[in-house]
Amino acid sequence: TEELPKKPSWLKVRMPISPEITRIKKTLRKHNLHTVCEEASCPNLGECFHGGTATFMIMGDICTRRCPFCDVAHGRPNALNADEPRELAEAIADMRLNYVVITSVDRDDLRDGGADHIGQCITEIRQHHPKTEIEVLVPDFRGRADVALEILKDTPPDVFNHNLETVPSLYRKVRPGASYEGSLKLLQGYKALRPEVKTKSGLMLGVGETNEQVLEVLKDLRAHGVDMLTLGQYMQPSRHHLAIDRWVTPEDFEWLGERAREMGFVHVASGPLVRSSYHADQQAHGKTVR
Ligand code: SF4
Ligand code: SF4
Repeated sequence: TEELPKKPSWLKVRMPISPEITRIKKTLRKHNLHTVCEEASCPNLGECFHGGTATFMIMGDICTRRCPFCDVAHGRPNALNADEPRELAEAIADMRLNYVVITSVDRDDLRDGGADHIGQCITEIRQHHPKTEIEVLVPDFRGRADVALEILKDTPPDVFNHNLETVPSLYRKVRPGASYEGSLKLLQGYKALRPEVKTKSGLMLGVGETNEQVLEVLKDLRAHGVDMLTLGQYMQPSRHHLAIDRWVTPEDFEWLGERAREMGFVHVASGPLVRSSYHADQQAHGKTVR
C-alpha cells in the first residue's frame, strides 16, 4: 500500500479555537447546514470563521458526478429542500457573517442544474441580512448553461465564481464529464449578462500540470473576461483519490501570481493554502492574499 506523500512544512497549519468559531459551529448545527470548511477539513477554517466567512454547500451532499479529486459522496441526490434558501439566510443572519460563499454539488438531474434554487438563496440572504456579501461558486450546468444563465442573471451575487480546476489536457482525468470550453463560456456568458459582477475562477495545482500550461489557462481566462483568480495546492483527501503529482513551492506560486497580475486580473490569490474561498472577502475587496 502506497503512503500519501509527506506534507511539506508550509502546508502544516494549526487549528485555532476561539469563542467566535465555537459560536459559528453551534449555529451551523442548529440550522442543520453543511459547510465545505468543516466537511473538507479545510486548513483555513479557523482563520475564515474567525473573520466572518464561511462556505456553504447547498442542494444536498450527494453529487451526480464523480471527480477523482473530490471527497463529496456521489449517487442519486435527494429532492431539493424548498426551505433551504430561507434556512440558509436565517443562519447567515444569526451568525452575522459578512461574507459567504455558496457552493453546491453538481445536480445534473435537475432541468436547470439548480440555478433557480441558487437564485432563491441569494434573494433570501439579501432580504434577511443585506450586509452579507455573496459569492456563488457554481457548477458548470453542463448542457443547461443557457437556461441557467438566463435564471441567474436576475439575482446577481457580488462575485460569480466557477472553477476551471485544471489545465485542458487533464480534463478527462481530473474533471470527467466537464468541458474546458464549456466552463470558459459559462464565465464569459455571465459577464456578458452582468458586466458589473466580478467573475472569478481557480485552479488546484499539483495534479500533473506544468507551470507553462497554467499560464495558457490564465490567458484563456483573461480572454473570457475573468476578473479574479485563485491558485492553490491540491491535497489528496485519501489514497483512493487522485494522486498528487507535485508539491508546488511557495516560490512557484509567487511567480505564477505575478504573471497573473501582469495579465490584468484585478485580484489574484496564489499560494499553497489558497482555496477558492480563502479570504474571499479580502479577495473581493482587492486586498493582497498570499
Ligand atoms: Fe471554508 Fe473556504 Fe475558508 Fe476553507 S478557505 S475554511 S472552505 S471559507
Ligand atoms: Fe465534487 Fe464538484 Fe466533482 Fe461533484 S462536481 S464530484 S462536488 S468536484
